[in-house]
Amino acid sequence: MASCAHIADIARLQPPRLSQSVHREECTQCFDNQDHPLGIDVCLACFNGGCLGRERHHARTHAQKTGHHFTLNVKRKLKPSASRADDEEPPAKMTKLAIVEDRDEDKYEHKTALKCWKCDPENGLEIQNAMLDPHVKGLSDGVMQSLSSARQSEVKAWEEEILPCEHTLTLQQLSTGPIPASVSSYEGLAHCSKCDLKENLWLCLTCGALGCGRQQYGGLGGNGHGLRHYEETHHPISVKLGTITPEGNADIYCYTCNDAKQDPELAAHLAAFGINVQTQTKTEKSMTELQIEHNLKFDFSLTGEDGKALEPVFGPGLTGLSNLGNSCYMASVIQTVFSLPVFQERYYPSASAHWYTCTETLPADCVDCQMHKLADGLLSGRYSHPRPTNSGMTDPKAINPLAHDSPTPVFQEGVRPSGFKALIGKGHEEFSTMRQQDSEEFFTHLLTVLRRHAKKVGNGGKEPTDIFEFGMEQRLECGECKRVRYRVDGMDVVSIAVPAVEKGKDAEGKTLYEEVRLGDCLSTLTGVEALEYTCPGCQKNVIATKRSRFATFPQVLVLHAKKFQLVNWVPSKLDIPLNVSDTLRLDEYLGRGLQSGETELPDDKAAAPGLPQFNEAAMAQLEAMGFPTIRCQKALLATGNSDAEAAMEWLFAHMEDPG
Ligand SMILES: [Zn+2]
Ligand SMILES: [Zn+2]
Ligand SMILES: [Zn+2]
Ligand SMILES: [Zn+2]
Ligand SMILES: [Zn+2]
Ligand SMILES: [Zn+2]
Ligand SMILES: [Zn+2]
Ligand SMILES: [Zn+2]
Repeated sequence: MASCAHIADIARLQPPRLSQSVHREECTQCFDNQDHPLGIDVCLACFNGGCLGRERHHARTHAQKTGHHFTLNVKRKLKPSASRADDEEPPAKMTKLAIVEDRDEDKYEHKTALKCWKCDPENGLEIQNAMLDPHVKGLSDGVMQSLSSARQSEVKAWEEEILPCEHTLTLQQLSTGPIPASVSSYEGLAHCSKCDLKENLWLCLTCGALGCGRQQYGGLGGNGHGLRHYEETHHPISVKLGTITPEGNADIYCYTCNDAKQDPELAAHLAAFGINVQTQTKTEKSMTELQIEHNLKFDFSLTGEDGKALEPVFGPGLTGLSNLGNSCYMASVIQTVFSLPVFQERYYPSASAHWYTCTETLPADCVDCQMHKLADGLLSGRYSHPRPTNSGMTDPKAINPLAHDSPTPVFQEGVRPSGFKALIGKGHEEFSTMRQQDSEEFFTHLLTVLRRHAKKVGNGGKEPTDIFEFGMEQRLECGECKRVRYRVDGMDVVSIAVPAVEKGKDAEGKTLYEEVRLGDCLSTLTGVEALEYTCPGCQKNVIATKRSRFATFPQVLVLHAKKFQLVNWVPSKLDIPLNVSDTLRLDEYLGRGLQSGETELPDDKAAAPGLPQFNEAAMAQLEAMGFPTIRCQKALLATGNSDAEAAMEWLFAHMEDPG
């Protein structure tokens, strides 16, 4: 029996707090995970996850670099009886409260072991019978019961969408006093006040009445007595028992708004009924957790433009990205960026060398580490293999009757870029959420993050983001004095408007559009347009002409094709075919700066520094349409601060981009 001389040190270690990220499913530096034969090692000091494969061995480098020497080895295996048949009919309509629950514990079994890296700095020494020690068992249970870091960031992302409503903010509670402990304790005898159900129970925050929830598809039973209580009393807010955490979070439902809401005063509202949140233990999955699981089960059909099924491919550079829920905008940007040689060269060969010079404490917090992880995941080919058939998951419909119709099975599970998403989206009001986003905006954001990081670590070398940079020249000419002004703006993306010309409808009534040539879009972009202008030379309002052309060309040109139209006040994406020829000559779109014979306009004295004066009429018009002030200002700035229509177009083009 192996014994460890350092075991006394373990008394100082504590199980993870609810707010801590626990990387117990996957290595933070590569995509090896708990399903690997060796499993992964979770550091018991900082809860980093490290792999144990011979080539990379990120658990060893973590122990060497940090001196953290106790880990919990986690291995996951599929239970033999895991293939489940689900032949119930799908419900007519899915609601937030009706979500299929697929319990991890039912499908897999986990094996854990305590290891010491002081005893064996090469591979870590497994300490036999360590789980007999109650403190070690407590640490192990704490790690295994924590939400995995991937799931935690997804839950956080969803929860950011749940806001308080006027009903949670102005809740009036009846002074009924504490309710008996046997009712409020979820483990205890609590049941619905109108029936015998003991689970799926909701507590009315106005009067303390307990009612069961609605029937959930494939999951918990419910007779809708909570809803009945609302209809009788109009008490708006209920909290789901079993979802209350010591930090004061829980599933809150507002029946008046008919939506999930947040109650910033939940702890106080519960205290009125004698419920102390600090003693509540979370026993049920919250709606958010259930919804994520549901959302992850959607798969997209694998057909080409000709409608034929696509052939599956495998190998280096042919690795898929799993859908994290509305994350296709991100997957397309990642795949495109890592198909470019400069990005491959920057992040793939040096993936293993980086960690030794990395200055971040945790790889999960390092932009470089996460870019290296993605490069290794996508380009090594190590994770590009057919999905195992014995997992019983070849047909998405087998596990989820609502999955998209897929003419072909899903061939590979690919890698899950959740660590990348959590880090890149951190602190960003849009990309930290689970909502559908616009890929062009995400691409721009990614470039900003990469450049900020490069500046911070100051490695001086050329950054791959340079290949997208180009200058856009704007030439303005006064219609009266004919004097000119040139300005060059640095850009990474050129947005082109794609004109919609209807040419009929197909058999299903879908509108068909004329094909548009890319060259025509660029000609429009670089064409001459007239505008009103206060000429600093003529000292009056004149008609001027404006022309934008490339001042320099990028190595890789990123085009953002705007194919939107307002239909009944709802922006919709139009299916306009855009013909991009194999070669494109850009010479005719190149500007040449000030020419001999041209005279420059004097400087604008009117251009005051500081915040620009936003066009008031345009602002009012945009805000009346319900756009947030900050978005309206951004749109006006981007479109010359002149008229609402241009700004509106910009707003629509920069909204979510489905698909
Ligand atoms: Zn690894
Ligand atoms: Zn550690
Ligand atoms: Zn030891
Ligand atoms: Zn009931
Ligand atoms: Zn009530
Ligand atoms: Zn409400
Ligand atoms: Zn790093
Ligand atoms: Zn003039």
